[in-house]
Amino acid sequence: MDKYIIGNWKAAPATTKEARRLWDQIQRSSWGKNVHVIVCPPFPFLSSVIPKGKIALGGQDCFWEQGAYTSAVSAEMLKDVGCAYVILGHSERREYFGDTDDVINKKLLSALKSGLRPILAVGEKTRKTFDSRGKHTNELDIVVEEQVVKALRGVSHAKIRNVIIAYEPIWAISKGKGNHAFAKPDDVFMAVLYIRKILTRLYSRTIAEAVPIIYGGSTNSKNIARFLAEGGVNGVLVGNASLDSTEFARIVKIANEAT
Ligand code: PEP
Repeated sequence: MDKYIIGNWKAAPATTKEARRLWDQIQRSSWGKNVHVIVCPPFPFLSSVIPKGKIALGGQDCFWEQGAYTSAVSAEMLKDVGCAYVILGHSERREYFGDTDDVINKKLLSALKSGLRPILAVGEKTRKTFDSRGKHTNELDIVVEEQVVKALRGVSHAKIRNVIIAYEPIWAISKGKGNHAFAKPDDVFMAVLYIRKILTRLYSRTIAEAVPIIYGGSTNSKNIARFLAEGGVNGVLVGNASLDSTEFARIVKIANEAT
């Protein structure tokens, strides 16, 4: 299956000049032709960078309507400025902007309708496997299942093939923040299998095998090879490390060389 390396710049850098410089530096790097490279800058910089074959452009969110919705950016607008992808359901959107599964579902349907490929981010908050009463539960199973099922409501068998699912356990995002830890390739492998199981139930085994599932959470040039080889993923979503053009190009190069 194709591999995807997606850079999520989040709310950085601060200026158009820096955004252009970062984009151009990435664009000048060489890495071969075996991976899809997508970079998602903040909205104001989308028109300042020029996607030229090698890197595709993505938005970090979109809204499902146009018109009287102050501050909103629609999927159609993203498409018009050259985006081919859009990240939806990122844990930071869920936490700081209140995006619920229903909201994410509306955004995802509108992205598909506008011809964008949604990158649906899902992931549990903690690694807890017991609830407050000591009963055995698995937060991953409960949270990820609900997020996947609700976000994909109404997505047809034909359209689901355009969706990329990013497994992003919150406890592993931005290592260095709070008590966040690195995920192990086995953690990722189990989550990927679980998501494919949900897709099999919702669609079919063929579709479950065809939908790209990528991993995001403190990835860098030191750990990406193992996530690709042992984690069973079709790529990675890179946050912090995507703001360093040399490091990002290294990650892409390693992915390009991985079998
Ligand atoms: C993210 O926020 O999508 C992400 C993967 O961030 P980081 O790589 O910094 O953990």
